[in-house]
Formats: sequence, C-alpha cells, structure tokens
Amino acid sequence: MSFFNSIGRSMTRAPRNVKRSPTPTSATSTTFPDATSPKSASPAPASPQKALYLCSPFVEAALVKGNFKTIVMLPKYVDIMEWVAVNMFDFYTNLNEFYGVLTEFCTQQNCSTMSAGSTLSYTWINQDRKHVHLPAPTYIDYVMTWVQNMLDDDNVFPTKSGHDFPPSFPSTVKHIYRQLLRVFAHIYHAHYAQILHLRSEPHFNSLFAHFLAFGSEFELLENKDLRGSSSSPVGVGALAERWKQMGILGG
Ligand SMILES: [Zn+2]
Repeated sequence: MSFFNSIGRSMTRAPRNVKRSPTPTSATSTTFPDATSPKSASPAPASPQKALYLCSPFVEAALVKGNFKTIVMLPKYVDIMEWVAVNMFDFYTNLNEFYGVLTEFCTQQNCSTMSAGSTLSYTWINQDRKHVHLPAPTYIDYVMTWVQNMLDDDNVFPTKSGHDFPPSFPSTVKHIYRQLLRVFAHIYHAHYAQILHLRSEPHFNSLFAHFLAFGSEFELLENKDLRGSSSSPVGVGALAERWKQMGILGG
C-alpha cells in the first residue's frame, strides 16, 4: 500500500496505541556516557580516502542479522498514518539522543559547514527562500527544533481521538525525513570517530539502517538526497549501497 495514496481514505481514529518496532538495541547497555568523553576524540578528517564507516568491521557492525524490511512493514490492522507517525517519533527521539552526545564535538569551529562528504554539503532555505550555508550545529539545531515543534503540534501529528491526520501529512513527513537524513549524514561524515569512541557504532548503524529501510518502504527517501548531485554515491549514499549489497536493506 502506498503511504502517499492512502491519505484520502476515511479514517476515524482511535487514540494512538500502535505497538512500535523500535530499532533493535543491544540486550546490554546502550546508554551513552554523558559529556565526559576525552577531548582527544577529534572529528574525522575532512576528506578521507575511504571513510571509516565504510570499512570493515564497522560497516558490518549492527545488532540485527538479516534484512530490516521485516521490521518496517506495516503490521496487519494498523493504520498506515499511525505507523508512520510513531516511527517518525522514534527516529527523531533516537537521533536526537545520539546528537546530544556529540554536541561538544559538533561546534562552529569544527563543523563550519553542514557537510556530509567531500563533495556534499547542505544548504538551509531561509525565510526569503534563499539557500544559505550554515555551520552544522546551527543547521542541526534548526532541524531538530523544527521537527520537535511539528511532533508537538496536534494539527500535524494528531494524538487525540477523533483528530484526523491532515492531507498534507505525507508531504510533511517526507520533508522531515529529508532533514533527518542530513543529520545522519553529517554525523557519519564528521563524527564517526566519536561514535566509535563511544562504542555506539552497532546501535547507530542499526538506527540508520532502520531509518533507510523505513524510508524506502514508504517512499520517503529521494535518491538525490542520499547520493548528492553526482552520479557516484558519496557519504552515506555509499554506505546505503554497501548495505544493499550485504542484504541488510531491501532491494
Ligand atoms: Zn558536526
């Protein structure tokens, strides 16, 4: 069923009680140390020949064996809007938690642009509809605040019984998806060393693979967002290709 074609159907909604398929986490601890990591963990080099996250064993580091498609598919009897909404909430919450640990490294000095690869950086569209370059921490702060406000807005993500999802919900979700993808991409590009230092790469890889599989299942991902403008994928686009080859992501 297409998420984008499903909005017109009549849906009288019950309160949100969808059982989630959270990103599988380790049975042991997945808590993050609070900001006590040594300062020696510096950002990744600006243009590595081969990014660390594309190298073995890190590229395989995940907590799940098998294909993520099985945990993203719409469960029987669950409304597709509800399913997408609860998953969006989880992706945002988990990503925000990761980024919160990295904020001491993601500074105006270390990350003066919102880059995600040697040839890939993102611009923010300001109030005058102009593309502007922002330092990564500023950009990410704008994204996370904007998404949080939407999740809190009952007109966008209705939580009360009898409130329907607005017709614009699918396009809103797609827009959110694109921005969250950029945050993932920046973290992989600029802060993977810190993720490794925290020994969080299996958890972070699993979260991102879950995010990609979900985006693919519900047509929320644009190829150009993932790969950049060039024909050969850079950054997380290359990672997604590898995972497809490894059978972690659906074809
Ligand atoms: Zn950064």
